[in-house]
Amino acid sequence: MQNHIIFFSGGKSSFSVADYVKTNFPDDNIILYFTDTLWEDEDLYRFIYEASDKLKLPLLTHSRGITPPQLMVLQRFMANSRVGTCSKELKMKVAANYLKKGVVPEIEKWYNKHFLKSDDFVKDATLYFGIGFEEMHRQRPIVENWKPFKVEMPLIDNIIDNDEALRKYNIRQPRLYEMQFAHNNCKGRCVKAGQGHFKNLLMKDKKTFFELMEQEIVISEYIRYCKQPAIKSGKQPDYMYKDVWEFVSTGKKSDKIKNILENADYLKSKRRLFGEDNKGRPINKPYTFMKSMSLEELEKQPIQCDIWDIGGCGCFVEYESQE
Ligand code: SF4
Repeated sequence: MQNHIIFFSGGKSSFSVADYVKTNFPDDNIILYFTDTLWEDEDLYRFIYEASDKLKLPLLTHSRGITPPQLMVLQRFMANSRVGTCSKELKMKVAANYLKKGVVPEIEKWYNKHFLKSDDFVKDATLYFGIGFEEMHRQRPIVENWKPFKVEMPLIDNIIDNDEALRKYNIRQPRLYEMQFAHNNCKGRCVKAGQGHFKNLLMKDKKTFFELMEQEIVISEYIRYCKQPAIKSGKQPDYMYKDVWEFVSTGKKSDKIKNILENADYLKSKRRLFGEDNKGRPINKPYTFMKSMSLEELEKQPIQCDIWDIGGCGCFVEYESQE
C-alpha cells in the first residue's frame, strides 16, 4: 500500500487533486494535509471538513499557533508582496519540518482519522500539489526542494475541471471564489496580493479590508519604533509590544493603539519621528504590504489602482529554501 499526501490548501485545485488521487488509488493510504495560518476565512473550514467527509479521507492540520500579523510583530518585519515570510514560516517550514524531520508543530489536529489506513503515512509518500499548467514554471523548483519525496502535479498532466470535481461530490465552492477572488487564502487578506486583489476586498468585504488596513498601520509604526537602536539593542524596554500584540491578536485598541490610528496621516510624514536607526538612516518610512502603496492610500484612490495587479500567495508553490 502506497502513501499519498495531498497539500490541501482549501482551494478548488487541491480538491480536484484529492479527487484524482482517491479515484486512481482507492486502496492506498491517502491524507489531506492542511497547514493553518489561523487567519483563514470561516468558510474555508466548512469546505475542508466537508471535503474530508465526502472524499472519506483523513485530514491532518498543522499550525504554528500564530497568525501572519502575529508573526510580523514577533519578527518586527512586515511580510509584503516581495517577501512572504508568513508563507515561509507558517506553511512551508511547518510542512518541511514535519515531513522531512518528523517535527510536530505547536498545533496538530486530526479530522476523520478513522479513514487513515496506516499510521506510517509519511514513509516514501508521494506529495501532491494543486498547480496547473499556467504555473508550470514552478514545477521544477518544487520537485527539487521536496526531494527525496516524489512529487506529482496532476493538474499539469491531466485535463481536470475543478468545478466538475465539486459537482461530483455536491460540495459548494468556498465563498471567496464567489466574491471573485482568485484564491481561497487568508480570507482575501494575502499580504502578497496586488492592488486589484485588495480593491476587490474593499468592494466585497469592507470590514475585513479596514481591519487589515489598521493592522498595516499599527505593524508599520511598531517596526519603525523598534528600529531605534535603544529598542533594538534592548537598552530601553519595548513599551509598545504588549499593546501591539494584543491588537493583532484580539483587535483590542488600547490608548497607544488608538493614538497610532488617529495620527496615521501625521505618522506617515517625512519627519524623523523616531530619530535614526543604527546605520544613521532616518526612521521615516512607513512599511506596507504592497510596495507601491499602503492600503490607506489604495482606499482613497480606488479608481487609479491597477485592477489587473492581482498577485497573491503561492504559499505551497513558492518554495523558499528552508535551510
Ligand atoms: S496566503 Fe498570503 S498572507 Fe496567507 S500565509 Fe500565504 S503569503 Fe501569508
